[in-house]
Amino acid sequence: MQTEHEIVVLRYGHRPGRDDRMTTHVGLTARALGADRVILPDNAGQAKATVEDITDRFGGPFDVELREGIGSIVRGFDGTVVHLTMYGEPIQTVESGIRSDCQEGPLLIVVGGEKVPFEVYEAADWNVAVTNQPHSEVAGLAVFLDRLFEGDELDREWVDADRRVIPQSTGKKVVPTESTNHTDQ
Ligand code: SAM
Repeated sequence: MQTEHEIVVLRYGHRPGRDDRMTTHVGLTARALGADRVILPDNAGQAKATVEDITDRFGGPFDVELREGIGSIVRGFDGTVVHLTMYGEPIQTVESGIRSDCQEGPLLIVVGGEKVPFEVYEAADWNVAVTNQPHSEVAGLAVFLDRLFEGDELDREWVDADRRVIPQSTGKKVVPTESTNHTDQ
């Protein structure tokens, strides 16, 4: 799927210390799998710094924002709101409707942490389940983005990277983007 409209991921809730790794992985997954931007709660500064560091090194464009009042962002979003939850409608039955919405305007994808208040379920245009089994926000986000983009995100080109990975059947190869000299790490 291609769209001129922005795809934004919003992380609802963050417990500093306990959620640092998971919130960072929400941001990294949003970036790697085709979203344009992630919004994190204002107490997730550590996660923001890590995602920005990865973007500086491996390329973008991708933006990270810290925001207060995450609930009001969901309520006031000028576009389609998707909330990922194990209680929602199966992704495979709603994905084409969500793709149609993406041709009309921006998409906000909300993933929760410990507890998501009911107002988010009510504010969402789509409550979407990646299976109706409990698992994780990172897994749910990854599968959702891949279904949304129908796999096209896997072939994305990155801009302003200072390095890139050369795929190997075994081992690790990373090259500086300005140079054709290969360096093993
Ligand atoms: N009871 C929660 C729920 O409503 O999905 C599970 C909390 S889980 C630890 C944290 C987040 O992971 C949820 O807020 C949701 O965004 C995501 N998640 C977990 N299981 C999911 C599923 N089967 N489908 C979609 N998202 C899921």
